[in-house]
Amino acid sequence: MALIVQKFGGSSVRDYERIMNVARIVGKTYADGNDVAVVVSAQGDTTDDLLEKAAQITQHPNARELDVLLSTGEQISMALLSMALGEMGYPAISLTGWQAGFETNRSYGRARIKNLNTERLQSELDKRRIVIVAGFQGINVNDDITTLGRGGSDTSAVAIAAALNADKCQIYTDVDGIYTADPRIVANAQKLDIISFDEMLELATLGAQVLQNRSVELAKKYGVELEVLSSLDPVKGTIVREVVDMKEGMLIKGVTKDEKVAVITILDVPDVPGISFKVFSLVAQAKVNVDIILQATGRGGNKDIIFTVPAARAEEVCTLLRENLSRFGGREVEYSTDVAKVSVVGAGMQSHSGVASRMFEALYEANINIQMVATSEIKISVIVKKDEADRAVQVVHAAYEEMNGH
Ligand code: ADP
Ligand code: ASP
Ligand code: MG
Repeated sequence: MALIVQKFGGSSVRDYERIMNVARIVGKTYADGNDVAVVVSAQGDTTDDLLEKAAQITQHPNARELDVLLSTGEQISMALLSMALGEMGYPAISLTGWQAGFETNRSYGRARIKNLNTERLQSELDKRRIVIVAGFQGINVNDDITTLGRGGSDTSAVAIAAALNADKCQIYTDVDGIYTADPRIVANAQKLDIISFDEMLELATLGAQVLQNRSVELAKKYGVELEVLSSLDPVKGTIVREVVDMKEGMLIKGVTKDEKVAVITILDVPDVPGISFKVFSLVAQAKVNVDIILQATGRGGNKDIIFTVPAARAEEVCTLLRENLSRFGGREVEYSTDVAKVSVVGAGMQSHSGVASRMFEALYEANINIQMVATSEIKISVIVKKDEADRAVQVVHAAYEEMNGH
């Protein structure tokens, strides 16, 4: 008998029909003789709707209370699915994040899982019950509810699979696998049979919302093989795992965009040693991830420092830098959120030249201006204007299709 973890995202549990559809998938897995632990997300756009409700009351909701609010979405799904399974004659029980043993750090809204106490989960499974866990939530040392960041139910599922040493971890969603680009942006994107943890981690971090990046990080750390598949179309999905045989010619695994970035510019700082250290240690103290950094070379002994941060943190970073301007002697700090990051990812580019230039050529031909560039061994990212991001993904994807030999 195998232990199977199945996660169902918001669109998979959107309404009555979809809940019954999920109950049939879960019920069949159980009836085949497997133990089943299920993780559910909030129905459809529930989490966005809850955020909207909070925004009607305040632009600066208390972080603890916001997590209390957001965690309710997943609780609706878990109870409904448990009832649906009960109606079909299956023994099921729903558990909140804290009942299921999810212990997190204190960071409301983006909590990290510190420990998963599997006692309750295991005892319910031992009774041959189907366990349905609310994704995206846990509890901190103060016994307060925390949430794991948008898309966090993926991470809940992987954590359960890792802690229970599950035989399978299936992530059911509204697409039937991982594609070479978001199929909503690129209609002829190709479905991948398999992708490595490292490539998927880059894609997820660079904006492909199909998996939360932390879920991939965790899957890699604990060697949990994932399958991403559709809850509506019963075809084979995409496997995410450690080692992938290089498919001949498949240089690029994916093209993606992230519109939730901001570019911060500090104007006219002195062109002397130590300035970057002062600036970025301040930003690091605020626990903000800096991505691309540019330093424009000096004019009259001065230079500009330009870098990207998550859009949600831009205001905060700007205020911090403005307050400390005298420490590094800049003239002004500005930011723009009218930007997007477009990236290509593929382990194959390590051993091939010409990948970056092909991307730049495609953007040039489409008359799209590149504001910043960053590269690593397996990815290239550029910053472009936000309203050109989709077109950039499309033209870059088309260019690499040629390179990949389709
Ligand atoms: P769920 O509610 O099941 O968690 P999400 O909306 O979080 O689903 O993620 C699924 C969506 O991710 C798809 O509908 C698709 O538009 C988007 N997506 C972005 N990049 C990719 C990609 N490379 N492959 C597949 N889907 C992608
Ligand atoms: N409901 C949460 C969200 O919308 C978590 C998830 O769907 O994974 O982000
Ligand atoms: Mg998701």
